[in-house]
Amino acid sequence: MSVLDILIIPDKRLKYKSTNVDAFDEDLKSIVKNMFDTLAASGNGIGLAAPQVGINKRIVVIDLKEDGKSNPMTLVNPKILSSSPERLINEEGCLSIPGYYADVKRPSEIEVEWYDLKGKKKKKKCSGLLSICIQHEIDHLDGILFIDYLSKLKKNRALEKVKKIQKKNNEESK
Ligand code: ZN
Repeated sequence: MSVLDILIIPDKRLKYKSTNVDAFDEDLKSIVKNMFDTLAASGNGIGLAAPQVGINKRIVVIDLKEDGKSNPMTLVNPKILSSSPERLINEEGCLSIPGYYADVKRPSEIEVEWYDLKGKKKKKKCSGLLSICIQHEIDHLDGILFIDYLSKLKKNRALEKVKKIQKKNNEESK
């Protein structure tokens, strides 16, 4: 089990665009395993994108625990094929922005295509929390954070909040 360090804003690496995975090999499997370990160790996370752990590859792991049971989903090179005109407002958070939550409006339904660990192409229509989560994670692959959709004021508030939490954590670990 390897838990990786999660990058926290304003780390510049969170703004990089990630590149496609072209080899479905053992390396990919071990990255995905470490990402799931990191997600599980986070306690409250439901999704993690590779750039959040400093790997600039288009890989997303999601676990929307159903009835407390793990329900892991791995999306390699995910792509949104279409999205509904209807919008859904949901309170979002992010492991790279600890302690800050805000409402974000996104398409309520999407059709998404991706590759599994074996390189097999998959396609699915998603709605509700899964749709929101996939959109949030795919944004990470393009260097977009949910606070980028907010006003400058709220964005600054998020940065301040994260700074405060990190300062507190540093003092506690001294
Ligand atoms: Zn996030």
